[in-house]
Amino acid sequence: MTRLHRDASAPVVAVRGVRKTYRLGAHTVPALQGVDLAVLAGEMVALTGPSGSGKSTLLNLCGLIDVPDAGEVRLQGQPVHLLDETSRTLLRRDGLGFVFQSFNLVPVMTVTDNVDYPLFLAGVPAAERRRRVAEALERVGLAEHAAHRPDALSGGQRQRVAIARALIKRPALVIADEPTASLDSHTADQVLDLMRERCHAEGAAFVIATHDDRLTRRCDRIVRLLDGEITGAEQPAQEPQRSAA
Ligand code: ADP
Ligand code: MG
Repeated sequence: MTRLHRDASAPVVAVRGVRKTYRLGAHTVPALQGVDLAVLAGEMVALTGPSGSGKSTLLNLCGLIDVPDAGEVRLQGQPVHLLDETSRTLLRRDGLGFVFQSFNLVPVMTVTDNVDYPLFLAGVPAAERRRRVAEALERVGLAEHAAHRPDALSGGQRQRVAIARALIKRPALVIADEPTASLDSHTADQVLDLMRERCHAEGAAFVIATHDDRLTRRCDRIVRLLDGEITGAEQPAQEPQRSAA
């Protein structure tokens, strides 16, 4: 049984006491040393910390890409850290969305086909797919680029396509690993604003790793990692008031 039985009162994702150690020959690298994190529906959490602090490792556990050595991972109340790989793959496919630094779009497909692909794989009827894809592209401001290939788009536009694709199956949880690292800072701000808007509108939980402290103030909560441990969590400082130009 791999469908999530949604428990609306539970956090979308909750990890407790997770530890992860990588083994490289004779060396061991303690990547996470007992981490707790819970993210609610409609909440956008920034995971921040220097390179090597464990952000991607924690995202991979939340995203069911990897399993912890110790501790537990729950998705909507359901323990998932003990599931076998096949079950995790199915849950990941049906219940989670992913956004990557490098966009990971299919270059030979149009924008429409990239966003449609998860629905196509899920066997959603064509008419419904057309409607949902058109709506998704509208929401990320790309309706006019529907027939373009990714290489005709700017980096920010490509990441908007990736966001539309990540959300097309209405996932409970969206995982984004350094989603703005390939973008200039103005475009990064716009992409973060879009993610926040979509997160709140769709009621999905977003967990976003970024080592760019400037971006974290667009999130609802900031969780800081250092050497595989959470060193602090805080609300972002209020956005500075923009003076009227
Ligand atoms: P971040 O995303 O914050 O840069 P990571 O989670 O990628 O941090 O890495 C945490 C630690 O685990 C680092 O010391 C890193 O070198 C190590 N690490 C990450 N992935 C692997 C891996 N596949 N094999 C061995 N060590 C790894
Ligand atoms: Mg990383």
